[in-house]
Amino acid sequence: MSAPVLSVEGVSKRYPGGVTALDEVSLTIHAGELVAIVGPSGSGKSTLLHIMGTLDLPTSGRVRVAGHDVTSLPDRRLSALRGRWLGFVFQQFHLNSGVDAVENVATGLLYAGVPRRRRRAMAVEALGRVGLAHRVDHLPHQLSGGERQRVAIARALVNDPALVLADEPTGALDTATGEAVLALLSGLHAEGTTIAVITHDREIAARLPRRVEIRDGRIVVDTGSVR
Ligand code: ADP
Repeated sequence: MSAPVLSVEGVSKRYPGGVTALDEVSLTIHAGELVAIVGPSGSGKSTLLHIMGTLDLPTSGRVRVAGHDVTSLPDRRLSALRGRWLGFVFQQFHLNSGVDAVENVATGLLYAGVPRRRRRAMAVEALGRVGLAHRVDHLPHQLSGGERQRVAIARALVNDPALVLADEPTGALDTATGEAVLALLSGLHAEGTTIAVITHDREIAARLPRRVEIRDGRIVVDTGSVR
């Protein structure tokens, strides 16, 4: 088995006021996996996503991204590491409404030290991977919800991250469009992209190769790596 792209080791997160959002959570994701992290509202999914994405630090425990211990890095090193190894997809797309699809995707390379012209070429290529080669110069408002999410997925992919973290990626879409986005993520996984999908939707989770179920801040089911 290849080196883990992410390992969360005995991680707890306590918020001021005494809420224990995560309680001794351990989770390892290997290259090439497609994992669902599923749980009801309040179970700790967002907290785990933030910690996996190095957007927040645990109260105790260790987190490694691509082998790097992120719990002891200064902020600047942390954002560089995040930019290099992780890609993010959010429920509400988070596109810049003032620039076209290709510019939105190219922002995924802003901190990667890629020259401007090369950024554009890479962004066009990433849009091709998500089936949007014909929409490169469209502004977000000229795209459907499903197309906007594809742009966001292209932005997450453009720097060839070790892990894509997708937070309720179908949550803002109708059923058919959500299905198409899931099919896209499955297709990218088949091409070798490593993806973790955070969802409250048990049906979605049941269809992915590995399901990690979280409840009251603890992992209660992990169907394990499938490769
Ligand atoms: P989910 O994403 O599954 O809905 P969260 O990770 O958002 O769950 O929340 C887990 C628990 O932590 C909940 O009890 C929530 O109220 C609490 N929580 C989340 N964020 C904070 C915060 N910033 N301050 C205090 N409590 C929080």
